[in-house]
Amino acid sequence: MTVAEPVRVPAPAPLPPAPAAPTPPLAARTRAIGGSPVRDILAVTARPEVINFAGGLPAPALFDVAGIADAFRAVLDEMPGRALQYATTEGEPVLRAALAARITARGLTTGADDLLVTTGSQQALSLLATALLEPGDAVLVEEPCYLAALQAFGFAGARVVTVPGDEHGVDPVALEELVVRERPKLLYTVPTFQNPTGRTLPADRRAAVAAVAARRGLWIVEDDPYGELRFEGERVPWIASREGGADRVALLGSFSKVMAPGLRLGWLRGPAALLRACAVAKQAADLHTPTVNQLAAARYLADRDLDAHVGKVAAVYRERRDAMLAGLPDALPEGSVWSRPEGGMFLWARLPQSYDTTELLRRVVAHDVAYVPGAPFYTGVPDRATLRLCFVTQTPEEIGEGLRRLRAGLGH
Ligand code: PMP
Repeated sequence: MTVAEPVRVPAPAPLPPAPAAPTPPLAARTRAIGGSPVRDILAVTARPEVINFAGGLPAPALFDVAGIADAFRAVLDEMPGRALQYATTEGEPVLRAALAARITARGLTTGADDLLVTTGSQQALSLLATALLEPGDAVLVEEPCYLAALQAFGFAGARVVTVPGDEHGVDPVALEELVVRERPKLLYTVPTFQNPTGRTLPADRRAAVAAVAARRGLWIVEDDPYGELRFEGERVPWIASREGGADRVALLGSFSKVMAPGLRLGWLRGPAALLRACAVAKQAADLHTPTVNQLAAARYLADRDLDAHVGKVAAVYRERRDAMLAGLPDALPEGSVWSRPEGGMFLWARLPQSYDTTELLRRVVAHDVAYVPGAPFYTGVPDRATLRLCFVTQTPEEIGEGLRRLRAGLGH
């Protein structure tokens, strides 16, 4: 018996290092959208000594940390298997039922099945864009408009068209003309304490907007993260509750400004077919919103008084708004005008036309204070003399100091 010699395979000669082939390019839509101007500005203002009126952050000292911690502890103690498990895409039934009751109590009859829980209301904007928009579809927006909504519509390839309006919001007559001319899929609006202007659409215009949508065939996306933060005046009914709104308004809500944004809890109320399409889109995006957060929020609503908490937050925010209103006449140059919001988080100012707030920001930030220039909020021709100030994050004393620095930075 012969034993075969093991075959010796010569080791291959090492290949010369090949130049790496480039990866295929990113999708065109990522280039079309570009960066976020607000993110870039926030990066400049991250120094702790900067009094930052640029952010849109709820005041962290007012989070009900103890109440939220109790709610998380309770659900983790009592139902850990459920709280830490996968859940349905539509959202936890107990939370949907509690949300439906809150919306119904505010004058809009709603059942748990009319709601989809979303990962912040920002996700609802993406889901609606996916469910409703083909590339090239027209979307009507207010001018100026919430930036991240523009991004969501931009990613969907929408053609964004602005609706003329005034200090009270969109003009329903101009809206109707645009609907006839542009055949848009939807109108996006923040009717209460709008971001960035703080303005609120009056009741008669809401009714007129709903009527235009019904008459001409249009979806309305009514985004309402700030409505509960009212300091004064009467609540204005949702567009969704007006005649003609029932089958064509997607109403978005959020716990970000009344409980805590880190929970990433929002909701979408809409007609069944739209809700189903958004649920399918949501499945692809994140399967569902974190179960433990949903159950803890539902537990918080059952055990605590969220409205009482919001009342306390609104009282503090009101003082801060008043501190800002008191300091603005001195801080801004002669000839400036600004809004006086009845709630929410933002105030909008227009300086004399010779001022360009984008150009001035660097000089202002050198004085350790920051705002957001108005230009990025415009999709049409920007009004470069405008700026947004968030009045809720600092104490009245800090606001006063920030406005003194703003005066120095603007150099007037
Ligand atoms: N809509 C508007 C008008 C907003 O200002 C914000 C947050 N700044 C959002 C939606 C998103 O909020 P969230 O996803 O935290 O609910």
